[in-house]
Amino acid sequence: MSVIFSDSHVPEAANASDNQQEAANASDNQQAAANASDNPQALAAGGILTIDLGALRANYKLIADAITPTRTAAVVKADAYGLGADKVAPQFYAAGCRDFFVAHLSEALNLQPHIGKDATIYILNGLQPQTEKLCADHNIVPVLNSLEQLQNWAALAKAQNRSLPALLQLDTGMSRLGLSEQELKELLADQSLLDCVDVKFIISHLASGDNVQSPQNKAQLERMQAVLKLLPQYAVAFSNSGGTFMERSYHYDLARPGIALYGGAPQENAPNPMQPVVSLQARVIQCRSVPAKTLVGYGGSYETQTETRIATIAVGYADGWPRHLSNKGCAYYGDVRLPIIGRVSMDSITLDVSALPEGTLKLGSLVELIGSHQTLEQVAQDAGTITYEVLTSLGNRYHRIYINDILA
Ligand SMILES: *Cc1c(COP(=O)(O)O)cnc(C)c1O
Repeated sequence: MSVIFSDSHVPEAANASDNQQEAANASDNQQAAANASDNPQALAAGGILTIDLGALRANYKLIADAITPTRTAAVVKADAYGLGADKVAPQFYAAGCRDFFVAHLSEALNLQPHIGKDATIYILNGLQPQTEKLCADHNIVPVLNSLEQLQNWAALAKAQNRSLPALLQLDTGMSRLGLSEQELKELLADQSLLDCVDVKFIISHLASGDNVQSPQNKAQLERMQAVLKLLPQYAVAFSNSGGTFMERSYHYDLARPGIALYGGAPQENAPNPMQPVVSLQARVIQCRSVPAKTLVGYGGSYETQTETRIATIAVGYADGWPRHLSNKGCAYYGDVRLPIIGRVSMDSITLDVSALPEGTLKLGSLVELIGSHQTLEQVAQDAGTITYEVLTSLGNRYHRIYINDILA
C-alpha cells in the first residue's frame, strides 16, 4: 500500500477487484506463454515480449480517476516507451484519453491514424522551422518552447487568417525546454504575438517529479504560480507521472503521465502502485557443463569456481538487455534465480543454471527476464539505469504478444 501520498486525491494501490484482474491477467499470461510454445513466429524469435493492454488501461484509469477533475493525457513518445504506439494509444483512447503527447512531429503523424479524430496530439519537442504548415495542416498542436517558435506559429496563423492552437512551455527550473524568464518578460511586455495563437495550456515540466522529497518540486510550483498571476486566463498542464502522485496543487487542468502508465514506479523509494505491463521471456539456445576454472564469455571475465552448468539464452544487448548486467543480473526459471555469468553479448547471455536439476532446461526452454520474479525496476536498478531506458531499449527482435486487447 502506498504511504507517501499526502491527500485523498491521489491514486490508491491495488484493491480487491484489481487483484481479481491480476489473477485474470496471470492466467492470460500463462495462456500467452502456452500459445507461444507452439507458435512458429514465437519459436523463431530469441525472446517473447508480452504486453498487457489491460494493465495499461487500468493504470490510465487509476491515475485519471484519482486526479479528476484534472484531465489525464497519455505520453506516448518513443513509440509509447518502446511498447508500440499503434497498439498502445488506442487502448488509452478506449479508456477515455483524448490528449496524447509525443516528442516529434513525425511521431504525431504516425500516431494520428490510430486514434479517434476527437483526440488531440501535442509535440513536446516544439515546432521546428519549416514544419509549421505540415503541423497545422494535420491539426497537430505544437508546444512552443521559445519566442522564435511563437513568432513562426503566429506568422503562419496570420498568413492563413485564422487562430492556431498551441501549448506554451515555460522553463520553471529545468533549463531544458521552454521560454526563459527573459523571454517571458518580453512576451508580457508585448502580448500581441498571442493574438492569433490559441494557447490551450501553459505547460512546464518537473525536473524531480520522481522524488516527492526534492525541494525542486516546490520551487518549480511556486515559479509557476507566480507566472500564472500574470497570465491568469490560461489553463495549465504541469505534472508528469510523479506529479500526479503529489498533492492537488500540482495537478492543475491536464496531467501528462508516461512511465506510470507503462507500469514503472512514479516515485522512487516508494511502493509502486501501478500494474506491471511487460513481461519478457528468453529462449534457451544451448546448455553445457564445464569444469572448475573455465572462462566464460568475451574477455574471459568470469571463471567458474566449481563444475558449472551453463545455459545460453538468445537475448543480448542488441535486444536492449543492458550490457551493464554482465556478471551481475539474472534470469529466473520458476522460483530459481539463474545468475548471469560472463559478459552480455550482442545476441546472447550465459546463465549459471547449476541450481536447477540437470536436464531441466533444454533447447527451446524459456526463462524469465522480466516478470513476477524480476520487476522492471529491479532490472533498471541492477543495470544502473532507469525503467524508462530499459523499456525504450527493448527493440524489435522479440516476438510480441499483446494480451487483454479490449478492441480485438
Ligand atoms: C516524457 C515527458 C513526460 C512524461 O514523463 P513521465 O516521467 O514518463 O511521466 C511529461 N512531460 C514532458 C515534457 C516529458 O518530456
